Amino acid sequence: PLILGLESSCDDTAAALVRGRRILSSVVLGQAELHADFGGVVPEIAARAHAEKIDHCVEAALEEARVTLAEVDAIAVTAGPGLIGGVLAGVMCAKGLAAATGKPLIGVNHLAGHALTPQLTDGVAFPYLLLLVSGGHCQFLLVEGADEFRRLGGTIDDAPGEAFDKTARLLGLPQPGGPAVERAAAEGDARRFALPRPLLDRPGCDMSFSGLKTALLRARDAIVAEKGGLTVTDRADLCAGFQQAVADILAEKTRRALAEAGVSRFAVAGGVAANGTVRAALEAVCAETDTGFLAPPLALCTDNAAMIAYAGGALFALGRRDGMDLAARPRWPLDSRAAAMLGSGK
Ligand code: ATP
Ligand code: FE
Repeated sequence: PLILGLESSCDDTAAALVRGRRILSSVVLGQAELHADFGGVVPEIAARAHAEKIDHCVEAALEEARVTLAEVDAIAVTAGPGLIGGVLAGVMCAKGLAAATGKPLIGVNHLAGHALTPQLTDGVAFPYLLLLVSGGHCQFLLVEGADEFRRLGGTIDDAPGEAFDKTARLLGLPQPGGPAVERAAAEGDARRFALPRPLLDRPGCDMSFSGLKTALLRARDAIVAEKGGLTVTDRADLCAGFQQAVADILAEKTRRALAEAGVSRFAVAGGVAANGTVRAALEAVCAETDTGFLAPPLALCTDNAAMIAYAGGALFALGRRDGMDLAARPRWPLDSRAAAMLGSGK
């Protein structure tokens, strides 16, 4: 079946056409310049931009795929979790298209889109362990089916991408912080500063990154108090120390999650997966435990609509159809037990 996917849950407006595992088109319109002056995504600005751009995005995706709306078999849309104004813009657009054409409507969990991406890109079979590690997320998901996920743990405070961005800000490096910190760290000595590895002494797969940032701030202030400022070397060493700490935390918790999941395939997704040190640490754990390692291409690891169309197609195959009462949900845990605890879930 040919699936049209829509995504608008954060700061990218996206539309894509996917048939099985074939991506016919994937259009992503970013909003980075709209939010640049504010040091973060501003929900009201994001919502307005999504509403303004989503129709154009759908048209561009149809055109690029050289198909018409009439040929589409179903319309899949991110129905949460995310910034509610943005999610609503996508859901309303999808409902309009479904009502106008009579095509089935399928609400997709944004996290399911990320979680099924290794299948879209590499045809990885169930079950597998996924580490989603981005600017807004950090969690281990045991993926057992297109609609069967178990959350094994995740961050209890910041997401690592957010920690990279804050670290860059603390050290006067540009945004997005991840690539800037990685570049600076290349010349640094990761052992000069003893930064903490929070929660590594505790059992389980939960992680914490906010203490790391505080320790980094303290180390920076100590240098500034002593020498009046940071040298290039100081900055490089701080970045290297921070990056190594993040890699160590993710690697050790991945080792535990793999043991708990008892699977032989591991995939990493999200913007932080672009980091060479993080990736090498995760690959080493997989090599050590005889686990297949997979990192999908970055363009499909960050927010896009192809993953939503693919996940929608998988749900379509399972018989899922949503009605015009499909709700936009700011919070929507993937794990059904977690959803029940929140009192919000199917
Ligand atoms: P989400 O997808 O969770 O809604 P997002 O859009 O912020 O959030 P992504 O686009 O997946 O997430 O990733 C962006 C994050 O990845 C940013 O925080 C950025 O600093 C980080 N990042 C990008 N490249 C690197 C890198 N080389 N090293 C570390 N972090 C990186
Ligand atoms: Fe995302």
